[in-house]
Amino acid sequence: MAANMTSVINDEIHHRNAEISHINKHIHANPELAYEEHQAHDAFVSTLQSLGFTVTPHAFGLETAFSADFGSGGRLVIFNAEYDALPGIGHACGHNLIASASFAAFLGAAAALKSSGQPGRVRLLGTPAEEGGGGKLKLIDAGAYTGAAASLMVHPGPGHKLPPAIRGVSFVRMLANVKMRVHFTGKEAHASIAPWDGVNALDAVCLSYNAISMLRQHIRPHERIHGVFRKAGDRPNVTPADCVVEYYVRSATQAGAEALWGRVLKCFEGAALATGCEARVEPLNSYADVRPSRGLCEAYIEAMPEGTVASDEPADILAGSTDMGDVCYQCPGFHGVFGIATKEGEANHTKGFTAVGGTDDSFERALECGRGMAAVAWKVLSDDAFAERIKTEWEEDMKLAAEGK
Ligand SMILES: [Zn+2]
Ligand SMILES: [Zn+2]
Repeated sequence: MAANMTSVINDEIHHRNAEISHINKHIHANPELAYEEHQAHDAFVSTLQSLGFTVTPHAFGLETAFSADFGSGGRLVIFNAEYDALPGIGHACGHNLIASASFAAFLGAAAALKSSGQPGRVRLLGTPAEEGGGGKLKLIDAGAYTGAAASLMVHPGPGHKLPPAIRGVSFVRMLANVKMRVHFTGKEAHASIAPWDGVNALDAVCLSYNAISMLRQHIRPHERIHGVFRKAGDRPNVTPADCVVEYYVRSATQAGAEALWGRVLKCFEGAALATGCEARVEPLNSYADVRPSRGLCEAYIEAMPEGTVASDEPADILAGSTDMGDVCYQCPGFHGVFGIATKEGEANHTKGFTAVGGTDDSFERALECGRGMAAVAWKVLSDDAFAERIKTEWEEDMKLAAEGK
């Protein structure tokens, strides 16, 4: 990339530090749960409007989504800004930093487009409800990613898991997650006067739990099955007739997770058969695996300060699932991880992570990622051969995904 374009990007992000910092602090100080991120939404919309951008509030039919767009013609690059928090522990996944990094990247890439006068478009997409709510699934259905050449974001992670001098990881795969709620319906009875009249839905819950526990020995090392009892009876003297469980079934690919779910389903069906209950399965919002674009990941490492971003180690830096996985099935995607200054016991989804996610140091790290992502976006927008390469790679990768690889 031309050195002058690097300075256009970096100067713009430097110049807009106050606006980005305002958003970062506002979101961190006002944690809002999935689909309730009104303050984050409003703060973003008013800040972007004050900077002169075309902003669509409540975008794509979602109350707390927004879209800010700049440029015309050419290719489209989308940055995802997450801003939802977790119940009781605030911004324990550091989504304020995701919002900041993507905001910075959007400003930098827009400045590059403006200064070059070249065709091309960038979008800052406010993506609600990553934590379990599947906000990006709804955005995908509403067409938010249609025609995108690439979509980028970074996620903060536990810095103490990274070797010294390494500040982030570029190529991070995350698991596909099939989420299901299962309702068992039996027949209530007095548990002492007429127990023989009862059909016990809690027995079906327990039988399926045990069957799944046995299945767990015979699955792949990277696969995960975990569940909770949401409803398991009210009184010991009433045979439970209405019980509900929720399970997450994870594997390396969407096809793999669906195949594993097929085996878990048998445990529920078997338990229903054995107890005489009815089992009804209610699908929740399942997440696809994160399949990052090799080309985007390489470009990100090149754009970041030399020697600070690892390619793909440690592979389990963020061993969960995200709705960004589904975006990777729409267009070439990037979901890098950057470390913040955590200690042992302060990984994502802990109060310790919430505290570290609010420091100036973490904000500076998010800005550094923003500069890197802006440079990658500029490469996608301005370099035809590179854009063609990541498109071809993505098409090949989608064929592998369909085969469960
Ligand atoms: Zn999280
Ligand atoms: Zn998160």
